[in-house]
Amino acid sequence: MEATKNIWMDGTMVPWEDATIHVLSHGLHYGTGAFEGIRAYETTQGTAVFRLTDHMTRLVRSCKALGIPLEWSVADLVDAAKELLRVNGLAGGYIRPIVFYGTGSMGLNPAGAAVRTVIAAWEWGAYLGEEGIRNGIRVAVSSWRRIDQSSFMPNAKVTGGYVNSVLAKQEALAGGYDEAILLNTDGYVAEGSGENLFLVRDGVVHTPPVAAGVLDGITRRSVDTLLREDGLTVVPTTMTRTDLYYADELFFTGTAAEVTPIREVDGRPVGEGRPGPVTRRAQELFMGAATGTLDLHPEWREFI
Ligand code: PMP
Repeated sequence: MEATKNIWMDGTMVPWEDATIHVLSHGLHYGTGAFEGIRAYETTQGTAVFRLTDHMTRLVRSCKALGIPLEWSVADLVDAAKELLRVNGLAGGYIRPIVFYGTGSMGLNPAGAAVRTVIAAWEWGAYLGEEGIRNGIRVAVSSWRRIDQSSFMPNAKVTGGYVNSVLAKQEALAGGYDEAILLNTDGYVAEGSGENLFLVRDGVVHTPPVAAGVLDGITRRSVDTLLREDGLTVVPTTMTRTDLYYADELFFTGTAAEVTPIREVDGRPVGEGRPGPVTRRAQELFMGAATGTLDLHPEWREFI
């Protein structure tokens, strides 16, 4: 990660190297925080942040789910992120807002701990590699199950929940794969460690419903809209591990991963073992909408 000039902390621009917190921060000990991952793209009309307002809305909702009293509105956070890109001179890159409990309380009850709000941004290329974007990645179903609705909140982007994702990611990499697919505790397909999953079979596009224990991904929503508008049928479908093996195409979506084809699952080639036409179309439409090279959904490109 390459350092930039400033990080926004609780309303002030702080030099990158001074953006530190105390070791007794509640969020560090108990994972009591909420965060976002957002991308900005260089376009011919300037820097456009992809669905910035939707991301900040999700952040505010995640805080609500966790019970964190947040002093900033969606509009404040949107303005802060834009200002941060401007002061850092970033034409594109990744934006990471995080809200967490700081110091002031060290029991499980976070009441009394200060709420800290931070936004950082830096340049970041393809999360699963340029080669992955072009030719697809190799994935395996994880031995870890996705955090369950009955004990956690899979549809809130809460820091502590990401230990589940880290374990699955580490296991996949140790096994020689690029990424993991997690099943939920009922044994149905949920999502990747940091990506939503799409499956194509007989020309129909499927994605696990949010009730399967997945994050309501903003890239997922965007790809769903773009493919429907392109004439395809997209349905939320509860899917089994076997459905993965019968798929003609599989791909991941996410802010970091964008649209990444999957060419192999559990040692079995997906379709012909290379990215298929629907995956290619999803990539084209998504990148075209994000960078403005296609005249689609201008409201998704929020200029700084
Ligand atoms: N699932 C998980 C678990 C994630 O962490 C992410 C990344 N935020 C996604 C899906 C994709 O969501 P989005 O498209 O909003 O980045």
